[in-house]
Amino acid sequence: MVCQRCLELVALPIRSECHYAVVKEGADTQSLPKGYDVLEMGEDPLDLLTLVEDELLLALPIVPTHAPEECQQPAGAKEPEPSQDEVSRSNPFSVLAQLKRDPNV
Ligand SMILES: [Zn+2]
Repeated sequence: MVCQRCLELVALPIRSECHYAVVKEGADTQSLPKGYDVLEMGEDPLDLLTLVEDELLLALPIVPTHAPEECQQPAGAKEPEPSQDEVSRSNPFSVLAQLKRDPNV
């Protein structure tokens, strides 16, 4: 899979658990316990490979990304932390003080 943040390859563990109730074709499935997917057996043999494949595809994340600490996202994409200087300069009260001093306002 490709990380949608840095576009590098990412390997993600996938865990999927599924419960199937294998029944004969046309059998009454109303009495089955809840939480089971019904697999009706017809004349064709059960294709386990396709079954597992489908389950894994369903278990895949929609947007695969690295864990934040592992992501190769370029450092420039992050918002830089404001330095101490900038914080004091953008003090809203100093702007108010300037307005008061201006006679044209
Ligand atoms: Zn990444």
